[in-house]
Amino acid sequence: MKNQTYGGGCFCGAVELTVTGAPVGMGYCHCESCRRWSAGPVNAFTLWNPDAVKVTRGADRVGTYHKTPNSYRKWCTACGGHLFTEHPGMGVTDVYAAVIPDFPYEPGVHVHYQETRLHIEDGLPKMRDLPKEMGGSGVLLPE
Ligand SMILES: [Zn+2]
Ligand SMILES: [Zn+2]
Repeated sequence: MKNQTYGGGCFCGAVELTVTGAPVGMGYCHCESCRRWSAGPVNAFTLWNPDAVKVTRGADRVGTYHKTPNSYRKWCTACGGHLFTEHPGMGVTDVYAAVIPDFPYEPGVHVHYQETRLHIEDGLPKMRDLPKEMGGSGVLLPE
């Protein structure tokens, strides 16, 4: 899937985007910020090199909010549907797995599991916060 491109978009279709190639990581985030912003218990993420993510339609409809310089959250201003979050400090863009339905999502890890409200017994590693290579403790928790 090296140079394959997958399409996706917002809830109403006004904004479309593509991701190309392979993500640098995939998994589930259980953090409070994801929960509050998404209004869901867990966020399924795919992390990409920013150059791999392109808005192909409706760029003028993309809203941005950042509470901290770590995360620039993007959504469609027509429908409110979430799109992706830029993480400049980590040098990656998180495209929510749910907005790229044709992409073969293969989660490998759960992160920020110490904040979970929904335990998931799927056998995947549960990081207390983040892996060491992403600036976290690398500590694993039981499911
Ligand atoms: Zn929309
Ligand atoms: Zn999160």
